[in-house]
Amino acid sequence: MGRAPLNPLVVLGATGSIGRQTLEVADHLGTPIRALAANRASDALFDAAAAHPEAMVCIADPGEGQERFESAFGRRAHFGPGAVTEAAAIGGSTVVNGIVGAAGLRASLSALYAGNRLALANKESLVAGGPLMLAALAEGEGELVPVDSEHSAIWQCLIGEPPESVARLILTASGGPFRGLSIDELEHVTVAEALDHPTWSMGQRISIDSATLMNKAFEVIEAHYLFNVAYDDIDVVVHPQSIVHSFVEFMDGIVKAEVGFPDMRKPIQYAIDQPSRRQGSNERFIISGVTLTFEEPDNEAFPCLQLGYAAGRMGGTAAAVLNAADEVAVAEFLAGRIRFVDIAKVVASVLESHSPIDPQSVEDIAGADSEARIRASEVSAKL
Ligand code: NAD
Ligand code: MG
Repeated sequence: MGRAPLNPLVVLGATGSIGRQTLEVADHLGTPIRALAANRASDALFDAAAAHPEAMVCIADPGEGQERFESAFGRRAHFGPGAVTEAAAIGGSTVVNGIVGAAGLRASLSALYAGNRLALANKESLVAGGPLMLAALAEGEGELVPVDSEHSAIWQCLIGEPPESVARLILTASGGPFRGLSIDELEHVTVAEALDHPTWSMGQRISIDSATLMNKAFEVIEAHYLFNVAYDDIDVVVHPQSIVHSFVEFMDGIVKAEVGFPDMRKPIQYAIDQPSRRQGSNERFIISGVTLTFEEPDNEAFPCLQLGYAAGRMGGTAAAVLNAADEVAVAEFLAGRIRFVDIAKVVASVLESHSPIDPQSVEDIAGADSEARIRASEVSAKL
């Protein structure tokens, strides 16, 4: 079609929700896959590796599954967290980072220092390591593009606009499965109810974070670093239909938005294919009969959003601590050891006792992260 072939893809978190949809999009666009990475030696990864015979296969924590991969895939199988970081550094690639959690940060930095295009779904890279990510962008030849739907929307609204013309970013939030419930009603919600997201189908951690609004807190921090906008100029509005993916308000009062039915394959395709806009696999946009509503977030019932602003404004390692405490609290909730409303209590308590430093290296982030995890486990155990 007269278009230069796309960079081959390195798909990190290939067995997850983002990873699987990335492989679908790559298949649709005919994009070659250079490497696949996941945490464990699962059947899902095995099948993906078998379906992509050219791809390197990297497993962070293979355990006993290592032998099976070695005997099936020989020299194209690689093991340990270092293998994932190295895959991200294969030159001339677009690296889609769909790893969940702060574990994704090293691979993101590796992709940027190697001069690759980093299509970032792993928002924790920016939440935990924002200052390091900006340094990697400034020092390397890499390019950072968002996959998260809200940030993809803002990115698209900003194309062709001078940075000083931006007055405000307004991120939309679905409000999650518990929108409208009071603090008292939230005391009794179950894990299954929390995982049942009304508009998006996602991995467990982000589903719980969407129910607490911590996901939106992370997205505020993500937007701050991606678009260099002050926290005072980033707002959140609850929009249960998830059709407006975010707004940008300009100095002259003009407001732009990107809209569409929720489907992560669209922002994934845009991140890989931009500036091209080839035919996607999406349904047609038929908006007649659809009602769109917008409301203020309920900060009393969902305190995590304000915790995110507080951590963002503290700066340094504070947001890394916010994320690490939340990773632990969410795992404790999923295991049935703490209640839904305790997640915010654990995170608030860990954040309060943290004195942020300016991180100079990934080790500084890792140090703050592991201290926060220990503290979060202690706080959870006492609840
Ligand atoms: P998921 O739980 O479905 O998948 C996570 C993937 O990460 C799995 O493939 C897992 O094997 C891999 N992984 C975990 N630890 C790893 C490690 N140490 N090294 C290598 N791989 C590792 O999660 P998801 O819903 O796909 O979300 C992934 C990321 O994308 C998260 O940061 C999430 O916030 C973000 N995101 C997801 C969506 C969505 O619709 N799912 C939307 C926007 C942003
Ligand atoms: Mg999002």
